[in-house]
Amino acid sequence: MAMIEIPQKAEQILRVLHENGYEAYVVGGCVRDSLLGRTPEDWDITTSASPAQVKQLFSRTIDTGIRHGTVTVVLDRERFEVTTYRIDGEYEDGRHPKQVTFTSSLEEDLKRRDFTINAMAYSDESGFVDLFGGRKDLQDQVIRCVGHSAERFREDALRMLRAVRFAAQLGFRLTDSVRGSIYELAYTLKQVSAERIQAELVRLLISPRPHWFRLAYECGITAVVMPEFDRIMTQRQNNPHHAYSTGEHTLVAMQNIPADKVLRLTMLFHDMGKPEVFETDEAGIDHFHGHAAHSEGIARQIMKRLKFDNATTETVCTLVRNHSRYPKLNAYSVRLTAYEIGGPQLFEQFLQVKRSDVLAQHPDVIGAKLDYLKEVEHIWQDVKLHGDCLSLKELAVSGSDLIADGRKPGPQIGETLHLLLMEVLEFPERNRKEYLLERSREMRFM
Ligand code: ATP
Ligand code: MG
Repeated sequence: MAMIEIPQKAEQILRVLHENGYEAYVVGGCVRDSLLGRTPEDWDITTSASPAQVKQLFSRTIDTGIRHGTVTVVLDRERFEVTTYRIDGEYEDGRHPKQVTFTSSLEEDLKRRDFTINAMAYSDESGFVDLFGGRKDLQDQVIRCVGHSAERFREDALRMLRAVRFAAQLGFRLTDSVRGSIYELAYTLKQVSAERIQAELVRLLISPRPHWFRLAYECGITAVVMPEFDRIMTQRQNNPHHAYSTGEHTLVAMQNIPADKVLRLTMLFHDMGKPEVFETDEAGIDHFHGHAAHSEGIARQIMKRLKFDNATTETVCTLVRNHSRYPKLNAYSVRLTAYEIGGPQLFEQFLQVKRSDVLAQHPDVIGAKLDYLKEVEHIWQDVKLHGDCLSLKELAVSGSDLIADGRKPGPQIGETLHLLLMEVLEFPERNRKEYLLERSREMRFM
């Protein structure tokens, strides 16, 4: 019999529960991932013990979702979610189950789970509990609902997006029934909270197959949760830079950038403003002047709607707004761009964004544009190596230095520092205190 290597601490939790007369299994994602030879993110445990009983058996626990039967057990610093066997009650508007009922039946607990590959349990004593053919579906690489697809999606609409997310993560296909039911019921995703949609969208985007976002489009999901994407799928771009529609270009660009939330979101949004500025000249060539600013506006709207946090939103918007900048091939222009974009980290993300954008363009232009980008990167490495000043913080004088030198406190201090920084960005060797104080004295009567 095939076996799963359960980590020691999870094993210890199972043992304690067993010794006290309860059933307990590892369940869900960790069983699926172990069978696939992937390293599970976390080890969830399902048990016949009630939350109160679980809390009695372990010294450190957290009431994570006690109403839904989940207690987090802390061993050393590691956390394990231990959930009582449960049946999900009526779902309110495709959102949360109104109430859950605890049960003594593992089968009932597995039945409430979304997909066959997520509905397996395992313990060393009992081996695999696979009541719905999860192992066969893993082998056949399909996402199939536990029970009737449409019914399961009516209970919780988010499962439709989860189906696509798991397909993209694993490279699996959807059964015809899953696909058909999504097509029929995608509109009900309107009722699902922004937070839950955001979490699944991000998991889809940072998967090894972000371009399977197309599947969400084909099934009618994006039409509901991100209609802005449907608009670029039909936006042609008949010009020498491009080989595909804006949407196809976007999918390829996402594939070309590392699996990072900010970077993938940036590529998803970077050209969404194109339909708003689309123009065709007399020669039949399509232009999209100023599209980056429009894309930023759309990115901001979408991220607000999906309740992304401010830090993520600002970083993504900055990258989208700047993605079509071309610094000139000299150190001054590279330093100035790095400063204007917001610092070294953003500048390096900007370079990654440009590279993936270029790689998704017309084969005839890729070579020259990559050569250009390599040159920018080369100059940037030199700038870093020299430790050139790139921000007010690194300037050899501060506001208090100017005041100590006899300047009146006030807004002119900030303006002076800004002018000094502009000069130092052009001539990094001038970042010396004596020199800058002298320059500031010359500026005093401006
Ligand atoms: P990952 O490794 O990406 O976290 P996972 O399978 O652990 O994948 P989770 O979202 O963490 O996914 O959910 C844990 C388990 O809970 C799932 O394997 C599934 O059995 C069940 N589950 C989660 N969400 C739902 C849902 N909306 N409907 C039904 N069952 C669900
Ligand atoms: Mg999980």
